[in-house]
Amino acid sequence: MPLIRSWVESANGEGCPFPLNNLPCGVFSAGVAEPRCGVAIGDMILDVAGLEAAGLLVLEGGPLLDVPFWNEVMAAGPMVWAALRARLVELLAEGAAERGAVARWLVPMAGAELHLPFLVSEYTDFYAGRHHAFNVGTMFRGAENALPPNWLHIPIGYNGRASSVVVSGTDVRRPWGQVKGPQDEAPRFAPSTRFDIELEMGAVVGLPSEHGQPVTVAEADDMIFGYVLLNDWSARDIQAWEYQPLGPFQAKATATTLSPWIVMKAALEPFRVAIPAREKPLLPYLHEPRPMLYDIALEVGLVPEGGCETVISRTNYREMYYSAAQQLAHHTTSGCAMNTGDLLGSGTISGPEKASRGSLLELSWGGGEPFAIDGGTRSFIEDNDTLILRGAARGEGYLIGFGDCIGKVIPALADPYAR
Ligand code: CA
Repeated sequence: MPLIRSWVESANGEGCPFPLNNLPCGVFSAGVAEPRCGVAIGDMILDVAGLEAAGLLVLEGGPLLDVPFWNEVMAAGPMVWAALRARLVELLAEGAAERGAVARWLVPMAGAELHLPFLVSEYTDFYAGRHHAFNVGTMFRGAENALPPNWLHIPIGYNGRASSVVVSGTDVRRPWGQVKGPQDEAPRFAPSTRFDIELEMGAVVGLPSEHGQPVTVAEADDMIFGYVLLNDWSARDIQAWEYQPLGPFQAKATATTLSPWIVMKAALEPFRVAIPAREKPLLPYLHEPRPMLYDIALEVGLVPEGGCETVISRTNYREMYYSAAQQLAHHTTSGCAMNTGDLLGSGTISGPEKASRGSLLELSWGGGEPFAIDGGTRSFIEDNDTLILRGAARGEGYLIGFGDCIGKVIPALADPYAR
């Protein structure tokens, strides 16, 4: 599909992440106005809440945009999602009859603050990257036992905490936790010294499923509203001590940062790719009826305090072993209900090369091989480092971007129990 040209000129530039083909969903505030729903177009935000209130955008079952989150649209289902996109294309395309009426609802993105685009109902994090699972398993348990026996059969996950999900730009405080290094005779309570990122994509559930009723992979794909970039901050020293036998707990509970825009599934349609070849056949309920991964180029930048950015990793979402639709289908096999606003983390997206690893744990191989950045080296994140996740699908003469997913790590509290 080629670029759809818009009368918002900035949306037509080749490097623009928000052309008319994209129309990602966010929540913004500008000046003193309360947060409201908007859609990115070029270097502007279209105030769709205002557009709906003015009668220029009519959605079935509406109003759906009179709240500062997208959950009501997400719950309305694929017909409404398609109608919303069709109407926005009609209003924003070159030569649009209603241009004059729509133009007054454009707000410059540069002056706007962006908020979490949806109310996160629950958060589940998976571990579905083959290269990442092998690398981490090798470091934690040795190459022989790197992949657990279930890994090639089940998209492994754990239930995270919706309360710790934050929007891009939110500072992340280095956590304290219980750690026990190889030289320690007993565990200690200390600030994490092996604080890390995980480069992931998040799938955002739109349509809910019923308690007691598993869904197929095809049904799961239909339930997904869109995708965000996701940084699942991880304290590796806390993780190594606590993770057996029930998986990570406090190591992953400090924060999870999302990019500010939800890219709707429809914008990613041209970029669908199949999951990689299976090493072991999957049980039938996990078979994909059609490609459900996406070709999305990803990168991670690290900016030390007062320094310049170094891109420390480049990879692609298509490296995942399981798709979000497979993860969502598997999630319901027990009868577990999925709700509007549920967030599924893909698992860390590492590629096969050293330069395509999606965590510092892997890039520095457990801290033993520090890598170069501007003005120094890193094994794990140091205080006041800023980490930036970026992603884009590349079409014919246009990009589909997500907005940067940024977080700065600020120093640990001197004493978390001081009162
Ligand atoms: Ca993770």
